[in-house]
Amino acid sequence: MPTYADLVKPELLSQPVYQPGKPIEYVARDLGLDPSTIVKLASNENPLGASPKAVAAGKAAMDSIQLYPDGGCYDLKQALARSLELKPDQFIVGNGSNEVLELLGHAFIGEGDEVVMGQGAFIVYKLVTLLFGGIPVEVPTIDYRHDLRGMAAAVTDRTKLVFLASPDNPSGSANTKEEILELIYALPEQVVFVLDEAYSEYLDDPVDLRGLIGQGRKVFCTRTFSKIYGLAGLRIGYGYGDPELVSLLNRAREPFNANAVAQAAAVAALEDRSFVEKCRMENAEGVMFFEKRLGSLGIEYIKTYANFLTINLGDGVAAFEAMQQDGVIVRPLAPYGMGEWVRISIGTQEENERALASLTSFLSKRSV
Ligand SMILES: *Cc1c(COP(=O)(O)O)cnc(C)c1O
Repeated sequence: MPTYADLVKPELLSQPVYQPGKPIEYVARDLGLDPSTIVKLASNENPLGASPKAVAAGKAAMDSIQLYPDGGCYDLKQALARSLELKPDQFIVGNGSNEVLELLGHAFIGEGDEVVMGQGAFIVYKLVTLLFGGIPVEVPTIDYRHDLRGMAAAVTDRTKLVFLASPDNPSGSANTKEEILELIYALPEQVVFVLDEAYSEYLDDPVDLRGLIGQGRKVFCTRTFSKIYGLAGLRIGYGYGDPELVSLLNRAREPFNANAVAQAAAVAALEDRSFVEKCRMENAEGVMFFEKRLGSLGIEYIKTYANFLTINLGDGVAAFEAMQQDGVIVRPLAPYGMGEWVRISIGTQEENERALASLTSFLSKRSV
């Protein structure tokens, strides 16, 4: 009798599985710790939570959850259009920007198609490519920064998409505007460039591709409410680009992919600019705190442009395990080919101090 593995599409058998950060409750149970004492700095979530206005809007939306959500996300697209000075039909909303990345896979990637990405880039680019039978073409980084000339050179007749996150996850590095524009201009007309802007709100001076979209360049951007807006648990993100592309992506989208609570919260989150600004500033202070302390301890880290810091602790998995014993959850980067490194999200000042104490204690035990 055939097993299910004999019956499913063969590409599923070799499909890697995304490894998420462990939820606080799991770690607490495993280690017998009180969940309220655990510090989770593993998934680049917002340590300040979400805007109280977003929380209130989400709660209000709970009063009507017997109704299907607005499949067209009218209010959210209006709010996005105002905020980004684009047209509502230039936006597609997803169940997290992850879903938008997957919609790009549905739309563009078939058997044997090539997708160019940097080595160690956000792993979802590779997962989406493989899921649709495509071939990830991974271009080595230079000093933990994506090599955009190398990525341009890796494009062939079979290339469909080029993915870049800037700031990048998990390295935290960023490419300059000039580098990004040079890459876009170097791409042939049949290749779509996707800029993942999950962390762009943390940049002082982010690259702005809206003008190029208007000029008909094949560029598309994705953003998320999971990071600076603090709505990771609601799963909501979006992409923006040419209306023709957006309408094609919509054909691959399931009808009610973005739920009503998330849509309502996202509109309010977008409009609470002072909360976003506060998060940006506190994050910058947290980054400075870590950089100063790591610098004086002589610990190697990658200069970050986002809300996390990637640190070389010699053995990422051992560090992760030791820190977890202290109730501090971080992300070991072995799945990204960076076995010595861990990624630590910037938390509140108190959380940052706990993380620093825990990693220093790990290093001191290792060196004896
Ligand atoms: C966190 C993150 C996302 C956002 O994912 P969501 O599905 O919107 O939660 C996208 N890209 C990168 C590089 C990220 O780090």
